Amino acid sequence: MDDQTLVPWNIFDNLPDPILVLDRDCRITAANNAAVDLFGTKIQGLDLVLILRQPAALAAASVALEGGGPETVEITFYSSIPRTFRVIASAVPRNDGVSQAVIIMHDTTNEKRVESMRADFVANVSHELRSPLASLLGFIETLLGPARDDDKVRGRFLDIMKTEAERMARLIDDLLSLSRLEADEHIHPRHLLALSPILLRAAEVVRDRAKAKGIKLVMDIPENLPNVLGDDDQLMQVFQNLFDNAIKYGWENSAIIVSVNLIDTMPRQACPGVIVSIADQGDGIPAHHLPRITERFYRVDKARSKSLGGTGLGLAIVKHIVGRHRGQLGITSTEGEGSTFTVTLPVA
Ligand code: ADP
Repeated sequence: MDDQTLVPWNIFDNLPDPILVLDRDCRITAANNAAVDLFGTKIQGLDLVLILRQPAALAAASVALEGGGPETVEITFYSSIPRTFRVIASAVPRNDGVSQAVIIMHDTTNEKRVESMRADFVANVSHELRSPLASLLGFIETLLGPARDDDKVRGRFLDIMKTEAERMARLIDDLLSLSRLEADEHIHPRHLLALSPILLRAAEVVRDRAKAKGIKLVMDIPENLPNVLGDDDQLMQVFQNLFDNAIKYGWENSAIIVSVNLIDTMPRQACPGVIVSIADQGDGIPAHHLPRITERFYRVDKARSKSLGGTGLGLAIVKHIVGRHRGQLGITSTEGEGSTFTVTLPVA
């Protein structure tokens, strides 16, 4: 291998990981396409320190050039979008005994992001479960102690404990739903379904809750709607969640308008679709919350959601199910007027 030229290194050029070869003076003698993309075309003959100002990576390269290693270190480039790499430096034996090393860099940015999302999720779940549990324990202690013989207090506390226990049960149900959904996210549902009966059933389930708040549920569903390919239980879960939210966050004595329409072409998909829109009258959602509203445990007003029995997982579940159906979820809202959630599903 010529020490001064970047050798056309065909076998490594299609690899996504940047690879560099260093001579005994730590100068670059070869680089694959991914390394050229990362560091630029003018790296031939440069000292590694000029392109990789990372003490850990330089130390690993030195160890490899002294015949040690392989050494593995993690480095981060702090540009506008930080990128993390796992760098492996290994010695490459040469027949003439002159030392040489190879540096392989594996982009771990995505792995790190997923890892930190998982850690956040576990922390969130623990927190969400711990607060009702702490309140249950507090009430149990009071009932075993000072309130032991107070019938009136016992009744009131048991009511609160029931509400807290139900919230924990709902949270666990929602978490199980999410994990099941993740498991078969890439399997598209195959059953031919009519949407109207599902919408009517979902409306029936929430009708009492709507009535209790004086909310009118107005259904405007045309006849002869084409079928969709779907999973009956999951679509029921979608509409029940959206109706429930419209009732929870809608004003007393307001109306929820559920309308269904056909569209010729779904955005970004060359097929006709059925669009279900659920419009409530309520405080609405401030615009800056909209991009994050479907994230797990994201709530506009945490205290309000909790006092209404919310788990903060409903819209995350809705988004997953709609995605699995190759559908689209749309959210628009005007503060002081209300919100409209739309679910568009491709026609079968
Ligand atoms: P939650 O269990 O808190 O209702 P969701 O995932 O269903 O969780 O909704 C997330 C958040 O989005 C809610 O906490 C609420 O702040 C907001 N939200 C959802 N639906 C509506 C709606 N129809 N009107 C106003 N805000 C809503």
